[in-house]
Amino acid sequence: MYGFVQRDKKSSVYHAVTEYLLSERRRDWRKLPSNVTGFHLMFGERNKLPFGRLGHDPGIVQLVNYYRGSDIICRKTAMSKVFKSYAVSMIHSTAEESFKWLPLTFFICPQTVCRMNVRSSNTIDPTPKPDEREKLRKMVEELNQTENKPVAWIAKSSAGAKGDGIKISTDVNDLITYVDSHPYAFVIQRYIERPFLLQGNRKFDIRCWVLLDHKYDIYLLKEGVLRTASDEYKPGNFNAVTSHLTNHALQKDLSKHFGLYEEGNEMFYEEFNRYLQDTVGVTMETAILPQVRDIIKMCFHVVKERIKTNGIGYISFQLFGFDFMLDEDLKVWLMEINGAPACAQKLLPDLARSIVVTAIDPVFPPSVTNSAENTWFHKI
Ligand code: ADP
Ligand code: MG
Ligand code: MG
Ligand code: MG
Repeated sequence: MYGFVQRDKKSSVYHAVTEYLLSERRRDWRKLPSNVTGFHLMFGERNKLPFGRLGHDPGIVQLVNYYRGSDIICRKTAMSKVFKSYAVSMIHSTAEESFKWLPLTFFICPQTVCRMNVRSSNTIDPTPKPDEREKLRKMVEELNQTENKPVAWIAKSSAGAKGDGIKISTDVNDLITYVDSHPYAFVIQRYIERPFLLQGNRKFDIRCWVLLDHKYDIYLLKEGVLRTASDEYKPGNFNAVTSHLTNHALQKDLSKHFGLYEEGNEMFYEEFNRYLQDTVGVTMETAILPQVRDIIKMCFHVVKERIKTNGIGYISFQLFGFDFMLDEDLKVWLMEINGAPACAQKLLPDLARSIVVTAIDPVFPPSVTNSAENTWFHKI
């Protein structure tokens, strides 16, 4: 018999996973009170995980559903810093060369707030935290000249999610002023101005679910979802948020046309493959997924030494949500990595079972195996 504790009551994905472990198909798992220390598996609360207290029970392997420190690629500001310092460590490489699939990104820290940084209890630190606004301004000047027009940029807050607080503009000083009016850091990133569009000239992003197991092996779920815009793409008209930002909640709340083209503004690979074949003669497998796999592998490669659990008293696995965009040349761009992704309702049962089969069973083998329990995760 194995025991798990469920500290996180909010995650719909891990709710489905625990239901699966407790279902009739499984006889090996029981749920323990959340304060018990002698558990095999912990579904923890993402930002409050007691990593330091894990793995001290002699003779018991403890598995937890987060990698400590994985935030360094899941917060937008941290990710850009990590990639830049990796590039610097590679001789003769810059971030633009090593990470050709990440839109140019600059870290911007609001100056007003940084001046109030209190280092000790009664001294006010007058020095603004260094950021990359001058580098950004220089880059804008260069790009506007080479491209012969003002290029567009997108400001996204470090902690933000679901499209909240995002601003797009060709006036980068305007964006910097916008960031300065907030109490937290942002990235200002080059905006992909010519996205590949769906029927009705609509933008979309692609969500891929990725599992990192306890051996640091990487798996990609065979199904993903396109989150589509409800309204026609309007280049240059950045106030038309529902034409530019494809987040599900934002489309649902702000567009009159939510659900008009696709049920719940969600398109799955099979339908997208038909569209790709009809319009440009390629498929996800031939043109898109090879790029997706390379990007995912590179991201985890960069942070491996900093987050792997080898030699620590406990082991981890984690589910990630990678958000990608395609430009009109079908080049894949990484928008962000989510460390605690939700899942499209339609895929949830398959995702939950696949997490159990791929991340949990190899560590805690089930007493009875059932060949019907296949996994949708494929190692990449
Ligand atoms: P979050 O979902 O956490 O708010 P994202 O980085 O995923 O942040 O951005 C939200 C949406 O904004 C994306 O799904 C995409 O539609 C759009 N977006 C984000 N970054 C860019 C970019 N560089 N170019 C074009 N569109 C972008
Ligand atoms: Mg270098
Ligand atoms: Mg996000
Ligand atoms: Mg996103």
